Amino acid sequence: MNVLLTGGLGYIGSHTAAALVAAGHTPILLDNLANADLGVHDRLAVVGGVELPFVCADVRDTDTVARTLIEHRVEAVVHFAGLKAVAESVHMPLAYFDANVGGTLSLLRAMDSAGVRQLVFSSSAAVYGTPRYLPVDEAHPTEAITPYSRTKLHIEEILADLAAAGEWRMVVLRYFNPVGAHPSGLLGERPQGTPNNLMPFVAQVAAGEHPCVEIFGDDYDTPDGTGIRDYIHVMDLAEGHLAALQRLFAAAPALETFNLGTGRGYSVREMIAAFAAASGQDIPSRVAPRRGRDVASCYADPSRAAAVLGWRAKRGLAEMCESAWRFQTRKP
Ligand code: NAD
Ligand code: UDP
Repeated sequence: MNVLLTGGLGYIGSHTAAALVAAGHTPILLDNLANADLGVHDRLAVVGGVELPFVCADVRDTDTVARTLIEHRVEAVVHFAGLKAVAESVHMPLAYFDANVGGTLSLLRAMDSAGVRQLVFSSSAAVYGTPRYLPVDEAHPTEAITPYSRTKLHIEEILADLAAAGEWRMVVLRYFNPVGAHPSGLLGERPQGTPNNLMPFVAQVAAGEHPCVEIFGDDYDTPDGTGIRDYIHVMDLAEGHLAALQRLFAAAPALETFNLGTGRGYSVREMIAAFAAASGQDIPSRVAPRRGRDVASCYADPSRAAAVLGWRAKRGLAEMCESAWRFQTRKP
């Protein structure tokens, strides 16, 4: 299958590209390098043994995207491209609506004009807002707590309207907390500046780049008082996209939504302990105030993806930490 990956040089896009190549497909990468560098393209060639087609463009450039779809005989698109820093979205809502909602509209127009109407969309567990029950299944009510999650919800609504109009086949994937790296240590998550997310920050503390991890609140209603999340290995997530792409070509409803998570939550303290064990490093931590808009616990009910897509997360917490540490120390 020829698959266009928008945001294909990013964290999840690059791992999905590696998984697609390993399964014999041809990913075509499109990225504006807003949060990626060209070195990822070189390293993907080492990992997969083949240089992948790459188009340096913005998804809002409708004509270039349409041309790319036709030139590369694209059969389906996975849409990763967008902005994802939740706290930043509160200060820059316009940039988020423009890149995420505007970017998706542009992509959909390009796909429509090229006659490619098969799409997998990167959504987020953030659309559930504050969980009303756990584990969170796909029927859980949605709620936009931040502009970032509102962009994801708006896009999901646009896709639902498109599905009702006919011709399109779409799968929405709501990711929980992707962490870890490719087993080669050549691909991973490299945030610009100080990481906002827990795992990349913990990795940098383990490497001595920061003195300690700040635990944002230890007075939550959880067993050890720290926040609980459903961390999922990025390679498991990547393989979930393969299953979703196959689903696009099955006799299935026009639009389906799946959680991609493990179904198991870990606390901040458990994450720090697991990373210390995997890296063999001391990871100092101290308790800091809660971070605004954080929820106490959030983890998935991933049973729909298991039943319908035949996909399950296979890799455990130790493998998530070991692979992230390999990437951190290898510093490709
Ligand atoms: P990332 O920032 O590593 O990757 C996104 C890529 O898109 C980057 O390479 C960036 O350069 C590119 N990009 C951004 N705007 C673009 C534009 N207008 N045109 C073309 N390229 C553009 O992020 P990621 O972690 O790989 O996330 C991928 C998707 O998954 C995003 O849509 C994100 O919202 C979603 N998601 C991520 C997480 C997470 O924790 N990483 C969780 C849930 C959902
Ligand atoms: N967290 C923390 N210190 C950090 C970063 C995150 O204690 O430096 C906590 C955060 O409060 C949450 C968990 O770690 O309980 C996961 O945070 P992350 O930002 O990685 O994911 P999200 O909250 O967006 O699900």
